[in-house]
Amino acid sequence: MVTEHCGPAVHLHFDLDDTLAHTAKAFRPSWRDPSVLEIVQTLVPDLSHEEVLHFFKVYYESHGCSWLGIADNFGLPMRWVDEAYDRHGDASLKLIADLEVKDRLPSLLDAASEMVRLRILTQAGYRYAESVLDHLGVRHHFPILRARAYKRTAQPYHIILAEEGRHEAKHWLIEDSPANLKEATRLGFTTVLVGPRDGEADYCFPDVEAFLESFIAGSLTP
Ligand SMILES: [Mg+2]
Repeated sequence: MVTEHCGPAVHLHFDLDDTLAHTAKAFRPSWRDPSVLEIVQTLVPDLSHEEVLHFFKVYYESHGCSWLGIADNFGLPMRWVDEAYDRHGDASLKLIADLEVKDRLPSLLDAASEMVRLRILTQAGYRYAESVLDHLGVRHHFPILRARAYKRTAQPYHIILAEEGRHEAKHWLIEDSPANLKEATRLGFTTVLVGPRDGEADYCFPDVEAFLESFIAGSLTP
């Protein structure tokens, strides 16, 4: 579906996990790392690891990121999320070597970068995001914007507009999570949903490569 608010694209903001990188299956086993239990037990000392895994799943669904969900529900600052990512980071980084590297992605991003500005908008930790992009061979394409609040609030989009200009429809968000697109849609950003999940978006594609091919070919220009 193409809605009337789509303007000429000048910025493409890519989500990382499950959009550019297929990480969910690789990432979730890292929840079993002992560091996860240690961090959560500083908040609720008596939880078992199985209970922690349950809460991680609940918060992953509600916030798109378990650490952000915990911080939101316990009223913790973003600094706590960064510290949790750092302490838990090594468990995640170990799994990056197993991520699928897609041969076509670097050349598609090369072509897109000639046309528009590219950026990563992620809720993940900075060190993790850089390592994933290095592994995929596409680090040089992207500045990384950490969503300093989760994507289901207006704050990350206000940061984008403040830093790059108030032309909402010229900022395209490419995401695998329909829930993560809702607030951006409300604010007038152009939305692209990639992957298997159904949801409302200006454009839907089976994967990020299919989106990039259509974008580079000019077939998405409204
Ligand atoms: Mg994602």
